[in-house]
Amino acid sequence: MEPTAPITQDVLTLPRKDDPSAKPNLVGMTRDAMRAALIDMGTKEKQAKMRVNQIWQWIYQWGKRDFDAMTNLSKDYRAQLADHFVIEIPEVVSKLVSDDGTRKYLVRIAGGHEVEVVYIPEDGRGTLCISSQVGCTLTCTFCHTGTQKLVRNLTAAEIIGQVMMARDDLNEWPEPGTRTDQNQPRLLSNIVLMGMGEPLYNFENVRDAMKIAMDPEGIQLSRRRITLSTSGVVPEIARTADEIGCLLAISFHATTDEVRDKLVPINKRWNIEELLAALAAYPKVSNSERITFEYVMLNGVNDSVEDAHRLVDHIKRHEIAAKINLIPFNEWPGAPYKRSSNNRIHAFADIIHEAGYASPIRRPRGEDIMAACGQLKSATERARKSRKQIEAEAGMGS
Ligand code: SAH
Ligand code: SF4
Repeated sequence: MEPTAPITQDVLTLPRKDDPSAKPNLVGMTRDAMRAALIDMGTKEKQAKMRVNQIWQWIYQWGKRDFDAMTNLSKDYRAQLADHFVIEIPEVVSKLVSDDGTRKYLVRIAGGHEVEVVYIPEDGRGTLCISSQVGCTLTCTFCHTGTQKLVRNLTAAEIIGQVMMARDDLNEWPEPGTRTDQNQPRLLSNIVLMGMGEPLYNFENVRDAMKIAMDPEGIQLSRRRITLSTSGVVPEIARTADEIGCLLAISFHATTDEVRDKLVPINKRWNIEELLAALAAYPKVSNSERITFEYVMLNGVNDSVEDAHRLVDHIKRHEIAAKINLIPFNEWPGAPYKRSSNNRIHAFADIIHEAGYASPIRRPRGEDIMAACGQLKSATERARKSRKQIEAEAGMGS
């Protein structure tokens, strides 16, 4: 695929005014909400469930967003739907493709905000890294997103819309009337909530969107193929198990409260022991369901041999089924840390591995397009800056 125009294109579009007469979006509604909306529109109660099933399949099984394509509905009913609703997902502003096949999309959501979505292909499968907020209210000191002021939570439509957008781009919707073949590898086989934002601070929208992703009459991703990454919002961890049921990753990053208070300030609210207790209680259906400990390797900060032993100790003491994902720090301009040396990272990995835990080192992907974790801010900021410049040049002020 050819790389498309640079990410700064089309920054002239100014934020849209929110239109109070705007029609509700069917995308992002739960089945119950859609049923209620159809009944409101005048659909008979007895028929509403069937209509939801039909519309759901068109939208989420076959990726159709045009009511006229819904050929098992009468023309009149389709016209009625079009009068009352829209089927909308975020608009792709630009797409960059890395030499290694990683795709980074910039999508625009209502209000003119922009969010990044990254697709990472691997052996005929692939992981989509999606965002849950514009920016983040938390201020982890190594994270570029954390330096950006939160603009807002994404809606469920905007969250599941990122998945639908990527399926469009990968051309992965099955033909109408057929189903996704579960025996075939899927290009978009996994979702990770590891983009911008803290998903557990936008719980309901993330939950509703992931329920849609897992729905057996739609996108049909197994709950085991969805991983939610949190910085450690302890009270919402049990809720994640109950209400979403996906796998969990935790931004652990430090082995003492003193260091974790600095790196992941939410630690001052819920400290390491409270966090570990919540993780130990996270239910799993099978032994293969381990919690991923994300650990960013920061030179001289959290990468000592003692740290590695303490990390293993924490996990053992709480009997957590875990794997440890070591992330070489992605440096960004002005970052207060440096990446640990490869030797350090490998020595750290060896200690964990010898203790009996998988300790993969995350391979940098999409570096040439700045698609890496924690960098999902730069392009947006760049785009913002140039919009400001454009406005200034046009004498509009900022
Ligand atoms: N807010 C959530 C999910 C988004 S961040 C969370 O914090 O878990 C996804 C992962 O990337 C987290 O583990 C985060 O700590 C890590 N990360 C952030 N900035 C990074 C950077 N500059 N280098 C490496 N990893 C980073
Ligand atoms: Fe927010 Fe996660 Fe970045 Fe922390 S690491 S600032 S929680 S996005």
